[in-house]
Amino acid sequence: MEQTFVLIKPDGVQRGLMGEIISRLEKRGLKLVAAKFMRVSQELAETHYGAHKGKPFYNGLIKYITSAPVMAMIWEGPGAIALVRQTMGATNPAEADPGTIRHDLAIVTSRNLTHASDGPESAAAEIALWFSSDEVLSWDRSVEDWIT
Ligand code: ADP
Ligand code: MG
Repeated sequence: MEQTFVLIKPDGVQRGLMGEIISRLEKRGLKLVAAKFMRVSQELAETHYGAHKGKPFYNGLIKYITSAPVMAMIWEGPGAIALVRQTMGATNPAEADPGTIRHDLAIVTSRNLTHASDGPESAAAEIALWFSSDEVLSWDRSVEDWIT
């Protein structure tokens, strides 16, 4: 089953939107298989965003991502990588489709609430960068037996 790496960035934490963002992914039907609430070190930030090094927004991006705690997660499901990108919306919230997290909850690119892997290679690399294998759970998500 496909897995993708998702980050609720510091603005999502500071604005109290963790529950809202997690809820949207849960309700879509994706399964949470790993999560940790953590601070991002300078080194981790630079490795994670290495592809953007040298771009005009890079220094601001590193400062943003290290400025307050984040919620790092792995979500699983069929086509999870594309599904999460779709639910998250376009990088620039002003261009994101209505109904997406970035459209509904954000207004500028530099404070766009979430990160999600953009393909199979980045998903594998980001999962390995942020989590050790013993932090990833294997479980069945089923409503049966949990209501009564
Ligand atoms: P995405 O997060 O949608 O995959 P990118 O990989 O292109 O987007 O960029 C990574 C992150 O860098 C964005 O989510 C955003 O936080 C920041 N960023 C990208 N472009 C800009 C920009 N022009 N100005 C400020 N921040 C930016
Ligand atoms: Mg990206």
